[in-house]
Amino acid sequence: MADHSIETEFQVQCPYCGEMIWMEFYPEDGNQQEMVIDCEVCCNPILYQITYSSRGRPRLVVERAQ
Ligand SMILES: [Zn+2]
Repeated sequence: MADHSIETEFQVQCPYCGEMIWMEFYPEDGNQQEMVIDCEVCCNPILYQITYSSRGRPRLVVERAQ
């Protein structure tokens, strides 16, 4: 497996204020990750859900944490 080719930086849009934010996630932290991080612009809580396929391809879902 070519681990170095796995994408770790993601540009996401804040579901509240629409600001584009760069986030970093790493597959070493688990095939399924879920975390709430406040938007650095509007300070609302954003729920990040990331899932890695068996081939290591990330799928990121961003929504309001409410
Ligand atoms: Zn925001």
